[in-house]
Amino acid sequence: MGLVIVGSVAFDTIETPVERVERVLGGSAVYSSMIASYFSPVQLVGVVGEDFTGQYRSILESKGIGLEGLETVAGGKTFFWEGRYGEDPNDRETLVLELNVFEQFKPLLPEGARKSEWVFLGNIDPEIQIDLLDQIEGDAHIGCDTMDFWIKNKPEKLRELLKRVDTLFINDSEARLLSSEPNLVKAGKKILTMGPSIAVIKKGEHGALLISGDTVFLTPAYPIEEVKDPTGAGDSFAGGFMGYLASRGNSDQKTLKKAMMIATVCASFTCEKFSVESLEDLSREDIEKRFERFSAMVSL
Ligand code: AMP
Repeated sequence: MGLVIVGSVAFDTIETPVERVERVLGGSAVYSSMIASYFSPVQLVGVVGEDFTGQYRSILESKGIGLEGLETVAGGKTFFWEGRYGEDPNDRETLVLELNVFEQFKPLLPEGARKSEWVFLGNIDPEIQIDLLDQIEGDAHIGCDTMDFWIKNKPEKLRELLKRVDTLFINDSEARLLSSEPNLVKAGKKILTMGPSIAVIKKGEHGALLISGDTVFLTPAYPIEEVKDPTGAGDSFAGGFMGYLASRGNSDQKTLKKAMMIATVCASFTCEKFSVESLEDLSREDIEKRFERFSAMVSL
């Protein structure tokens, strides 16, 4: 069973208190597709410019990710994001955001992926997320991520989109912003009145909270000694979560709880190196081993 992922495909410049890297591969669809590919076949839908050369495509191809839905705009420039982290990895400032080829983008879902039962709308303009949803035939489980930029700049479109979403991934400050509710359990419950039946609130190094019906499930973050670059942690969390659900073919309570643990482990790998470096070398066995270690850490 496959997973369709739409989102940003980007070049990122990232500055942490110890290092700066320029124009490295990033974007919500890149991180989420790369990690989801360890669990399920993935079709990526997005857009790049001519500067997105074969070397970047082959990183995605090496994971078996379907790129039929990745459009290249002749003469165009790939989405660019520059961000800076403070000593606290949860503290991130966006310095530059150039939509470039995303400004005019209309996603085109390949014919063969339209009946897909699992879809992840990675963080990007909600209008693009809606355009992709309109091409899905049948009753798919829709996961969706967003961020403060879209909550502030496209609130109506986002509200329209949320009515069609099953699982919303959102970080703690964004959940508060979207719901106007400071308490996270109440914020999650309020989000459930907007459309989704599952709200996953990511709290960075403090773990993640799932709220669905009467269920409240909490996982800590996997403790790693050195966080080199937190970029993409949220996308990897969602990619691991959705990839796992697609591989199981269901979203019952037990599967959701395991998906939370798997997703936590996936996010931890991303933070250990810059850009997608750690996802390039990862094996399914590495994920399984860390999952076992994590399970032992959180059980009595
Ligand atoms: P995360 O750290 O999981 O929130 O994801 C960071 C990634 O999201 C980076 O690789 C950026 O290229 C990408 N990104 C940053 N801002 C936006 C935005 N407004 N829309 C879409 N993607 C973005």
